[in-house]
Amino acid sequence: MALRFYNTLTQQVQPFEPLDAKTVRMYTCGPTVYDYAHIGNFRAFVFYDILRRWLKASGYGLDHVMNITDVDDKIIRNAMAQGKSLVDYTAVYTQAFLDDCATLRLERPERVARATEHIPEMARAIQKLGDEGHTYSSDGSIYFRISTFPGYGKLSHQHFDGMVSGARVDVDSYEKADARDFALWKAPKPGEPSWQTEIGPGRPGWHIECSVMAIEFLGSTLDIHAGGIDLVFPHHENEIAQSECLTHRPFSRFWMHAEFLLVDGQKMSKSLGNFYTLRDIFGRGVTPEAVRYLLASVPYRKSLNFTFEGLNSAKTAIDRLRNFTFRLESSKLPQIKNEKIEEHARAALEQFRASMDDDLNTAEALAAVFEFVRDANTAVDANEFGAGNLEAAHALLGQFDAVFDVLQPSKSEGGMTDEEIEAMIASRTAAKKARDFARADQIRNELTEKGVILEDTKDGVRWKRK
Ligand code: AMP
Ligand code: ZN
Repeated sequence: MALRFYNTLTQQVQPFEPLDAKTVRMYTCGPTVYDYAHIGNFRAFVFYDILRRWLKASGYGLDHVMNITDVDDKIIRNAMAQGKSLVDYTAVYTQAFLDDCATLRLERPERVARATEHIPEMARAIQKLGDEGHTYSSDGSIYFRISTFPGYGKLSHQHFDGMVSGARVDVDSYEKADARDFALWKAPKPGEPSWQTEIGPGRPGWHIECSVMAIEFLGSTLDIHAGGIDLVFPHHENEIAQSECLTHRPFSRFWMHAEFLLVDGQKMSKSLGNFYTLRDIFGRGVTPEAVRYLLASVPYRKSLNFTFEGLNSAKTAIDRLRNFTFRLESSKLPQIKNEKIEEHARAALEQFRASMDDDLNTAEALAAVFEFVRDANTAVDANEFGAGNLEAAHALLGQFDAVFDVLQPSKSEGGMTDEEIEAMIASRTAAKKARDFARADQIRNELTEKGVILEDTKDGVRWKRK
């Protein structure tokens, strides 16, 4: 069966292919850079990465845009409290975010767009919405009038009949005509940063940046728009209203949303204080690959409970796969091709692909890999895994790692490349030959400290990473 995704818009799993059959135009909501991102946030970003990688593995090109929200109430509040400019304040967290993404091996979207670099385009879009009768002003702020967009609620499948026009249920300090109306543009407040634009001074509301940057870079209709589940309402509902009123076209064909990362049954979030940043957990000896594996291993539409035991199991799972790869590389295999193993490798690869095609069912995809590894390990023990089976085994592991990307240890773990390790082993062998055993032991200890284990065998020295 072909590639298919659950679409929040239709509430159904639907076959997916990009509109132009070649390149997927995708927009994902990025971070608000007011602080370090926590691993709850990274659940969403790891999901984007797995989605990207599987689209590529399915043969598609990608044009993926992600925004960085670098102006909002919290940012302004924090920057002012620290006496910093908006740019100086957000630069630190933007860089930290990009560094964290690289540490977790998240592929960089084709474009990462900062909101503050698109303010004139946002002002122009708000002007156009105004010209077409979708906005009103109140105290220098501009609001989107929801009653002018009949499709409002189609993504979150809500009926807003109960919300009477004119009701003031929102505690926002700005005056709105309808509780659902939202700010497109906020009036300048004394001491706060603001921009001079063709619609007057002020700053954008949060929702408009995504509509404007998505349309600017990707055109009126996207193939996929993704985000965390908390963005469905109101953020994505508002994006649809703005975008469809601007272009008179459907905004996105597919809407995909990642469930929450939970801690003790509650959403991991800054406001609940139950969060960990990557910095917090790397301090405890956790590797980036274990975090990546844990976040990727539960299918994105299931909530995932975060525990340190979960991270430990992720580490164990990665070790099993690395040990298996190491074993294949270092064992003397018989010159045979075991047909049963061949068949299992082929079936596992097929199962892996079918599971990923099924709305990115990563758990089932992993199960296929581990079943094969168990079977293959037994065969190696019995000397029944042949050199002729290597190609099929590597095809499976290669496909696995193109998505999960955890087999190579991070630099920070050992800090050494294979070549550097082999060079040190050669020095140790030379030292032993010269009967300089103190030097040989010293090299061995250095390698052990860096997580490299040596094994002296009659065929020479074997090594592996811990
Ligand atoms: P923010 O930086 O708050 O704008 O959030 C960035 C992304 O992280 C959004 O897509 C959120 O939906 C997502 N997110 C925030 N908290 C969690 C969580 N506990 N689990 C999963 N995703 C989250
Ligand atoms: Zn957005």
